[in-house]
Amino acid sequence: MIENLIGGVRVASKSGNKQSVFNPATGEAIDELGLSSADEVNAAIQNAADAFPAWFATTPMKRAAVMFRFNELLGQHADAIAREISREHGKTHDDALGEVQRGKEVVEFCCGMPQMLKGEFSRNVGPEIDSFSDRQALGVVAGITPFNFPAMVPMWMYPVAIACGNTFVLKPSERDPSSVMMIADLLHEAGLPPGVLNVVHGDKLAVDTILDSPIVQAVSFVGSTPIAEYVYNRGTQAGKRVQALGGAKNHMVILPDADMNQAVDALMGAGFGSAGERCMAISVAVPVGEETADKLVEMLRPKVEALKIGPSDDADAEMGPVITKEAKERIVGLIDAGVEAGADLVVDGRSLSMQGYENGYFVGGTLFDKVTTDMRIYKEEIFGPVLSVVRAGTYEEAVTMINDHEYGNGTAIFTRDGDAARAFADGIQVGMVGVNVPIPVPVAYHSFGGWKRSLFGDHSIYGPEGVHFYTRLKTITARWPSGIKDGAVFKFPT
Ligand code: NAD
Repeated sequence: MIENLIGGVRVASKSGNKQSVFNPATGEAIDELGLSSADEVNAAIQNAADAFPAWFATTPMKRAAVMFRFNELLGQHADAIAREISREHGKTHDDALGEVQRGKEVVEFCCGMPQMLKGEFSRNVGPEIDSFSDRQALGVVAGITPFNFPAMVPMWMYPVAIACGNTFVLKPSERDPSSVMMIADLLHEAGLPPGVLNVVHGDKLAVDTILDSPIVQAVSFVGSTPIAEYVYNRGTQAGKRVQALGGAKNHMVILPDADMNQAVDALMGAGFGSAGERCMAISVAVPVGEETADKLVEMLRPKVEALKIGPSDDADAEMGPVITKEAKERIVGLIDAGVEAGADLVVDGRSLSMQGYENGYFVGGTLFDKVTTDMRIYKEEIFGPVLSVVRAGTYEEAVTMINDHEYGNGTAIFTRDGDAARAFADGIQVGMVGVNVPIPVPVAYHSFGGWKRSLFGDHSIYGPEGVHFYTRLKTITARWPSGIKDGAVFKFPT
């Protein structure tokens, strides 16, 4: 049974509610997860509140020293963490190692947190008066995370929050919760005091308890758009600061002058890596012009047919299964809907069966051509290994299509034309843009966030925006010597 981590101690949930964690490659239940009661979540929140005063008073350099040691330990244990991710998520070992590395880079950023927390100082803003401002931690903050990056997405949150001086309650995905527990142990081995990071497992009840708690000051959420919107509304109504990152439909525009080999390789990795279960996956290819489209589909078809699919311990596998039986059924249902709507199914991954893994949740690589913007497979996030080609007559048509989509997480353009790339990056209504880069996930010292219905709230996540989210500004105006010689002043101070 996978336990909670409350006040530095592993505690089994006594709620009586539990659910299985599955190996998606085999369909076998491999562990059980206790789903926390409201009292258990509140106990975690109270532990975080009790730990806050001492952690807030700890110097930023001492907090950063914990991050330095944590970073070292993450490096030493990356392989084991990646194996744990793959066992529950199904992604290939290399892909899981990449996830650990990108999470670790946020921890590296946090090693420099004293620099980020430095304030501003102005001498002599008035006679013998100085003014200074700095950013202070909020108190207890919380994170709610999705299944698709079980280690990295939590690391977008708690290292930043903790290095800023907050204490944290994390509610990971129920699907693949174990890597979080391994990593939390490393953080404690690095010297984190008990209660600064608490982990509670659970479902909607745990999330609602966090959202309603008067103790929790801010909530970071990453997951699907309907839940992101719900979390944002309920959390802000309860007076909290909320950043809620949601779903996506990421387009890649291929102009006629693009290096087609490079564009096709980029589409393969970005469309089918991690079985398409990335919020920055490219799920729509937009070739401009019929000639570009014909060439693209002709080059993609054999590559999609030849995709190597297998369990995570198959070193040759390029992608693994999807997360659950329900996810597989949903993806196959959407492929059916695409066929019914009249899209051209070039490669059909619906009937893939893996010898020895007949009960696994595998879906083969799927390629649609001649998809139109009124179809469900275009409008909805499929979150599976399905790439849709939507043909655009002109560059302007491609741009309008992207700007009209409800999501605005990531996008990319492949071209050799600098003018076109620059105009695209300037004008497109999307938060993260790649120019000849298919998955433009910002590095840890920038910040990650989409536009439109891909992010609810005012702050992107990690990097400088993350620091702003987890801190608030305090400005102090001080007069020394403090003896006031000019008597009471009733007009507004100037
Ligand atoms: P999800 O929305 O189902 O779950 C996310 C979290 O919300 C989980 O911890 C879950 O327990 C909780 N939750 C689920 N239903 C809830 C409910 N009714 N009330 C309250 N809480 C609830 O998402 P998922 O399937 O785990 O993850 C996939 C989704 O996450 C995709 O839509 C993907 O695009 C998105 N995602 C977005 C980003 C980003 O940065 N924008 C990154 C990764 C994943």
